[in-house]
Amino acid sequence: MDLRENIAKVRSDLEAAARAAGRDPSGITLLAATKTQSSDTIRAAIAAGITACGENRVQELTAHLADNAYEGAAVHFIGHLQTNKVKYVVGRVELIHSISSEKLLRAVAAQADKLGIVQDVLLEVNLAGEDSKSGFSPQEALSAARLAAELTGVRLRGLMCIPPAAAQPGDNLPYFKKLCRLTVDITREMLDNTIDMDVLSMGMSGDWPDAVAAGSTCIRVGSALFGPRPPVSTRKD
Ligand SMILES: *Cc1c(COP(=O)(O)O)cnc(C)c1O
Repeated sequence: MDLRENIAKVRSDLEAAARAAGRDPSGITLLAATKTQSSDTIRAAIAAGITACGENRVQELTAHLADNAYEGAAVHFIGHLQTNKVKYVVGRVELIHSISSEKLLRAVAAQADKLGIVQDVLLEVNLAGEDSKSGFSPQEALSAARLAAELTGVRLRGLMCIPPAAAQPGDNLPYFKKLCRLTVDITREMLDNTIDMDVLSMGMSGDWPDAVAAGSTCIRVGSALFGPRPPVSTRKD
């Protein structure tokens, strides 16, 4: 596999998909999902034009930061985060996509307060109600958004979802449309106008064209750029 070619291909497909949806391609971030990749591979991806990397695991994030592997790109956190590990993530990444409980939201806000910063976050929504996945139900997302608006340490930028693996194109389109609609609904419910949700993080290697059609502003792509990963049974991501 050729990383440079893969990146160029996903980029040109992304531009075509955006245009087909009547959207400006510059409004959609191609976030490279770098889990299991080495620091050298991450550097190569950035040299080939990747501007944002998404990490899943605190350990990998910490190691790559120590290596200066992300130089020239933004770093996001997209994986399951335990409250006892927020200190390794808050203030070190531009955006945390995976706020999956009010407890975690409070812990992130408290750590940000301690550092005297405001951490940008997304709420992860478990649209299909899958037991294997973290996240708020669509109903819970509204109260979590209200809580986020009260906490000084976080700025709620939008929503994220990881729908079931799609068997074929079109399968996840209903989920992506639902997340888009949920953003609109939550914004309308927040009467005091305290939030401006401009990020919709949805779409992975197997389904991102549908996510772009539904309004995604950030696709998180791993295997389509880096090739298949070795199977990991113990990891929750
Ligand atoms: C691994 C991962 C991705 C990318 O998955 P691919 O199918 O390899 O593109 C996107 N988002 C999250 C949260 C992930 O863990």
